[in-house]
Amino acid sequence: MDRVVTNVTPAIERALQVPFIDLKSQQRGMHEEALGAISKVIDSMDLILGPNVRAFEAEFASYCRARYAIGVGSGTDALYLALRACGIGPGDEVITQANSFVATAEAIVMAGADPVFVDIDSATYAMDPWLLEAAIGPRTRAIIPVHLYGQMGDMDAIMEVAHRHGLVVVEDACQAHGAEDRGRRAGGVGDAAAFSFYPAKNLGALGDGGAVTTNSRSVAENVRKLRDHGSFQKYQHELVGMTSRLDELQAAVLRIKLRQLDSYNALRRAHARTYEELLACTNVELPAVRQDASHVFHLYVIQTDHRDRVRATLADRGVATGIHYPVPIHQQAAFRGIGRVVGDLPTTERVARRILSLPMYPELQPDQLRYVASCLRECAEVANGI
Ligand SMILES: *Cc1c(COP(=O)(O)O)cnc(C)c1O
Repeated sequence: MDRVVTNVTPAIERALQVPFIDLKSQQRGMHEEALGAISKVIDSMDLILGPNVRAFEAEFASYCRARYAIGVGSGTDALYLALRACGIGPGDEVITQANSFVATAEAIVMAGADPVFVDIDSATYAMDPWLLEAAIGPRTRAIIPVHLYGQMGDMDAIMEVAHRHGLVVVEDACQAHGAEDRGRRAGGVGDAAAFSFYPAKNLGALGDGGAVTTNSRSVAENVRKLRDHGSFQKYQHELVGMTSRLDELQAAVLRIKLRQLDSYNALRRAHARTYEELLACTNVELPAVRQDASHVFHLYVIQTDHRDRVRATLADRGVATGIHYPVPIHQQAAFRGIGRVVGDLPTTERVARRILSLPMYPELQPDQLRYVASCLRECAEVANGI
């Protein structure tokens, strides 16, 4: 059918629609290379824990400045396997934050342990290290700080409390590939760290995938065994494990994308700077980047008292937004009666009502950024002086 004649130019048409994420345009940039790598794997039929998984593990460990990386089935499995490899199990308590994707707490429960939720810092959304002491009880064995939205938690303060109390630290780095805190990369600071390669993450596969990183040889060996039925040698099972191996096809794709990760992250940071300049004159709260931290902006999250109205106005004008996450984990139906809440989590609950995630991905175009910002500036609720 012929195109209906309209007076809307292609540039304006694009500006009228800003999707929340655009995975197709990233794929376009690497499509031929990915097809080539996939086709080589199929030719070899070396499909489980083959040469691409081994090579990706070495390359990703080196990228995170960790001694070991072990490819697993998903970020959730990476959290679960990291906890189990560190000896966390039934009867243990694991301190974490409730403003995360549900997987953080799910992995604790899957390991047989009980989650304990502490409140957060309202500017950085990170676990408040000063609240940790009050959360520690006789059964506490581990802490999972979440490097939420792409910024690492205050790892010096968290590691100090952990060392003083003999606790294990597992970083939830599922949103923080390449983030840094005082020169150290996410994944290389705690006893172990979990990464997700879900397609929308900063380093995303063409399906599910994940990895555990660690500097400990014994933790690495335990994860290697647990992901493959507790076994190093066929039919010799030393631990009760599972099947959770990074797929060889996904590893082949991830090796290509890992080489682009720093440039993807640099684009995200540049877009964040543009938003900051364009939104400086509004009364929305912009993301706070901690001193000595390198934020990789998995998400660009603002706060406003008028979140729902602002979100509806943006939607009317073709700008898609998200809320990460609207219901804190301790208030989810699945977690009723599970774990412990320290204090009432007033900050966690307050930010859940105020947060709004703007479109953020490397392929965002300057005119799209300007359009999002101008739509936001035109919301009466966020214009200054109102
Ligand atoms: C994505 C994510 C996970 C889970 O990763 P999957 O690969 O989807 O299992 C865990 N924690 C956080 C903070 C995440 O963003």
